Parts: sequence; structure tokens; C-alpha cells
Amino acid sequence: MNDLHKQIASNNPWQRAQGQLHKAAEKLALDPLLLARLSSPDRVISVSIPVKMDDGTIRTFEGMRVQHNNLRGPYKGGLRYHSQVDTDEVKALSFWMTMKNAVIDVPFGGGKGGVIVDPKEFSAGELERLTREFGRKISPVIGPTLDVPAPDVNTNSQIMKWIAEEYAVYVGNKTPAVITGKAIEDGGSEGRTEATGLGGSYALAVILKKLKKNPKGMTVAIQGFGNVGSFLARYLFDMGCKIVALSDSKGGMYVPEGISSIDEVERCKEKSGMLAGCYCVGSVCDISNQKKVKGKTITSDEVLTLPVDIVVPAALENAITKENAPKVQAKIILEMANGPLTQEADEMLSKQGVTVIPDILANSGGVAVSYFEWEQNMQSEKWSKKEVFNKLQKKMEFATEAVYEESVKQKVSLREAAYLVALKRIRAVYS
Ligand code: NAD
Repeated sequence: MNDLHKQIASNNPWQRAQGQLHKAAEKLALDPLLLARLSSPDRVISVSIPVKMDDGTIRTFEGMRVQHNNLRGPYKGGLRYHSQVDTDEVKALSFWMTMKNAVIDVPFGGGKGGVIVDPKEFSAGELERLTREFGRKISPVIGPTLDVPAPDVNTNSQIMKWIAEEYAVYVGNKTPAVITGKAIEDGGSEGRTEATGLGGSYALAVILKKLKKNPKGMTVAIQGFGNVGSFLARYLFDMGCKIVALSDSKGGMYVPEGISSIDEVERCKEKSGMLAGCYCVGSVCDISNQKKVKGKTITSDEVLTLPVDIVVPAALENAITKENAPKVQAKIILEMANGPLTQEADEMLSKQGVTVIPDILANSGGVAVSYFEWEQNMQSEKWSKKEVFNKLQKKMEFATEAVYEESVKQKVSLREAAYLVALKRIRAVYS
């Protein structure tokens, strides 16, 4: 194994990102100075966040913002609150944002940030005090034309609102475009909630057309039934696909003849708190012509290895590894989660003839609509949901076509092609 392969196969996400970058750069004979600029983030900002807890004690948390590259526009990427946040992970995620924003062709660079904290242990007041202090600490390094954060793991529109309010105090006026993922009443965009799932369905539709496959009747298994997985399930259902399996962190359901209503499943999950068992709960059975659906409960991971046409990891990273990759029966994988395949799994699946639609393309609908939100804020406009969806469809189709064409031209996987497309776009603005 040479150094490049060692880097790509590494479990350290930053080393893996470096490996992917250098592999694509080699193919493009990228200018060494540009490669050097992309090989390390422009800036890593570390902040300390003292918080007064409800019991009167003071605890100090560590936060960070990594600004990877801004050749194509302001740094852009989420802020996550998680006990496992570490600098190398955030550096890798910021690099992937640079690549994703170039693939989907929005005028942003890449950034990412986070706080090492488990917010589930916090009261609402503690969370607000932590966030406001974090917002105060990063205010000097963010801004609508400098760096535009967004929600990520364990952060949401309320957290974005607190940060925007702290930024407003810092600059002396209200500036909604400093952050995206806001609630509609705070300047958020119509369609942002659905965007990532809907965008994934547009990307899949283009690839199926290229592969001369009709989505009607194709069987789909989705791991993760949160924001992304649940909307994707609905849109694929509307395209005529048969959604046969869904899972969440507590388990899953398998209905070989196809789930008859995603809305019913959602209602069942809301009521019972989990998906497992929803295959035949009350109205889910009733709406299937009153006859018993032949379904069963499965584990969260079994969903990935069922006899289906399309598997969608839409939960966490490293869902498919060298251990379960040989058991994957689907011929198409739509990567809606970030980094759901380990490098080894990716190589094994490629040898098994599986088409993998890579994360930096498949889930880029979210950042596309974040860009629409920023654009509306900058122009003081409000677009309808229909307008947003039309623009999203155009962006996803254009990006997917570009990645597919590159993969055919260079005889490489869609993942490698996505990196090549991104680097070419970055190179085009580099002088
Ligand atoms: P979410 O928190 O709304 O949902 C995550 C889902 O995954 C939940 O249903 C959870 O129960 C499930 N899950 C967790 N562990 C699981 C496991 N081991 N097996 C099966 N299911 C499991 O999150 P989301 O916003 O839907 O994001 C999902 C993925 O998509 C993440 O990797 C995220 O980084 C990525 N992503 C999200 C967006 C977005 O706009 N939300 C954009 C780009 C990428």
C-alpha cells in the first residue's frame, strides 16, 4: 500500500479527505500551490466557552470553527454539538463542504464548526447560555460575505437564531444572511426542510435514466428515518419506487410487498417512538386493502443487506464497512448520510459492480437551499416553495449530469468524478 492508499483507507477522517484530494489532484495535474492551499484549512479557530450551569457551577467547553477554503465564496457549513467533535473530524467535514459546494455549484467555500458537548444533558437555559457565548466568540470571524454557519448534528433553527442575535449585537444591526437554517419567520427559506431528501430523489432520477432503469417498481431500503430519510422515502414513493424497508436507531421494518403509506408510518413512529413494529400497526394494515401486510421487524443494520434494488444509508457515517459490504445485495447505493461507506467498503462494492451515488452529490440539496436562503436574505426576497423546488431540481440535475459525464469520460466511479468536477470548478476561479 503506498502512502496515498494508506491515507484514503485511514479511519482518521482528515487523512481520508487528504487521500481523496491528492488522488483527484494527481489525475488533474493540479497546480501544486492550489493543492497545497486545499491540503490544509485556511484557518482553525478555537474558542473556550464558559457557561454558568443551573446548579451555579461554571463549566468551560471547547468550541471551534474551521474555515477550509473560500476561493469560490464565503465559507459555508454547519455547526454541530457532540461529545465526539474533534479537530480532525471538523477539518475533514469543512473540506467536504468545499467539495460539495463546488459540485452543486453554489458560490460558497467550505467551513464547519462545533462544540464538544452533549446537549442532551443540558437544560434549555444552559443550552441558550452555551450557544450565546459560542455566538459571541465566533462573531468576529463570521458574516454574510465571510463565513455563513448552519445547523448540523444536534443543532437547529433555535440555536441558529441565538447565534444570529449575538452577531447582530456584535455588528450593531440585524443581519439574517449571517446564518442559514433559520425558521421561516426569522428569514428561513420555504422548502429547506424537504431539500436534502428531495435533492437526493432528483439525483437518483438522473442516474436511473442514465442506467436506462425505470424507477417504477424498483425496491428501496432506507436506513435512517429522520429528516432526510423520511422525506426521501416520500419522494421515491411518489416516483413509483416500492419502499420495502425503513429503519431508525431502535430497529426497522421490512414489508416485501411495499409500504403503502409513508405518512402512516410516520404517524405510527410518532405515536410509538420507534419504527420497529410499524409494518402492521393499525391503519398501516388497514390501508393495504384491509388484509394483513406480510411484514416483519428487522434490526437497524439488516436494512442494508436486504434483496432490494436500491439501498439508502441516511443515518450515520461508516454504516457500510468491510464486514457488511459483501452482504449488500442492492446494485445502487444512494449516499444520503455524510460518509456512510468506509473506504474499504467503497472499494469492495465497486468491485461488486454497485453504482454508488456519492454523498457530496446526493445530499447536496440541503446546502443548495441554504444558498437560496442566503440569496433571499441578501436580496430581501421571499420565494415560494414551488420556486425553491424548481431551482433545486435544476441545480441537482445539472450537478448530477456533470458528475455522470465526468465518470464516463474519465472511466472512474461517480465519487471520483464528483471530486474531479469540484476541483475543476475550484481551479477555474483560482489564479
Ligand atoms: P436526523 O437526526 O433527523 O435523523 C437521523 C436518523 O437516523 C434518525 O431516524 C435516527 O433514529 C437514525 N439512526 C441513527 N442511528 C441509526 C442506526 N444505527 N441505524 C439506523 N438508523 C439510525 O438527521 P438527518 O438530518 O436526517 O441527517 C441524516 C444524515 O444525513 C446525517 O449523516 C447528516 O449528516 C446527513 N445530511 C443531512 C442534511 C440535512 O439537511 N439534514 C444535509 C446533508 C447531509
